[in-house]
Amino acid sequence: MTSAVNPPPPRPATASRTLRSVTDLLAAGLVTPAQVPALEDVARHYATAIPPAFADLIETPDDPIGRQVIPDGAEIHTDTTEDPDPIGDDALSPVPGIVHRYADRALLKPLLVCPLYCRFCFRREHVGPGGSVLDDAALEHALDWLRTHTGIHEVVMTGGDPLMLSARRMRAIMQALEGMDHIHTIRIHSRVPVADPGRLDDEMADALETTRSMWLVVHVNHARELTPQARAAIRRVQARAIPVLGQSVLLRGVNDTPQALEALLRAQVAARIRPYYLHQLDPAPGTARFHVPIREGQRLLASLRGRVTGIAWPTYVLDIPGGHGKVPIAPGYLHEGPDGTLHATAPDGTIHRLARERG
Ligand code: SF4
Repeated sequence: MTSAVNPPPPRPATASRTLRSVTDLLAAGLVTPAQVPALEDVARHYATAIPPAFADLIETPDDPIGRQVIPDGAEIHTDTTEDPDPIGDDALSPVPGIVHRYADRALLKPLLVCPLYCRFCFRREHVGPGGSVLDDAALEHALDWLRTHTGIHEVVMTGGDPLMLSARRMRAIMQALEGMDHIHTIRIHSRVPVADPGRLDDEMADALETTRSMWLVVHVNHARELTPQARAAIRRVQARAIPVLGQSVLLRGVNDTPQALEALLRAQVAARIRPYYLHQLDPAPGTARFHVPIREGQRLLASLRGRVTGIAWPTYVLDIPGGHGKVPIAPGYLHEGPDGTLHATAPDGTIHRLARERG
């Protein structure tokens, strides 16, 4: 935490370019000279990128925006619970760029570049500006895998961030997927609308046009990320009849209070984003400072039950470490009573016996 004894350096005016190095962070007043040696060490392991639109939202380095993107010396310390591939993507990749975990869907990862690098990223060992982009041959190989696996009905484009592709390349991928009769649904997971909204311009929005059921899932962790520019980018997609969902990670110091979580959910609904997932943090290396225990997450969500509209209610999910899949971990409202009947806990905490229901 920032203290009065060690105040944050003054913030200079609007950043004009993406901050990528420790020198950039120092010049922007986001780190102190004393932090530089440890951060140079972090920089040898993990990429940094803070685009101007996101840098402008940072009021102090330890605020909910700064914490997500400013590197911290603690990142090079890992513990035994952490794993470089916490959700087991690598073992489930039949060809480069494809991850096949569930029977009816597959991930397509055309590149490993992001508009910013989240300090808690579950793919942090893989993403970065030096991370690979599938070249034409590798992309065609990945698309061929999708063509020949007719049990796949949904393609989840992720990365990296697929909206970092050029509009031309995105359009080519859409056309290729459109040529596969068994693909009914395409999902794009992206941080671009909040991190670098100008990139989601009309040309890119046009490139997403398809006859398939197309969904955009925006990664947003704090209400302040949904700026007028971000909402305008999202509107460009919505205007093309593409529904927009939200996914967030429960993060210490970012959205781990009832007030912050409520504001995040309400801000999404106000932007016509349906909150979809609230993720339990994956145990990627050096991310312990963001960890919120599951029971605390359940209490947080329970505190909002009955106060926040149901359309703002995300599914709280855990990716079971080791690649065992995603499961809902929401607070439970049904319990079996001593007489074998079910009891329901109301939003106000009172417990009610369901006379007709037996466990
Ligand atoms: S945008 Fe997604 S993939 Fe990229 S750094 Fe953030 S969490 Fe990782």
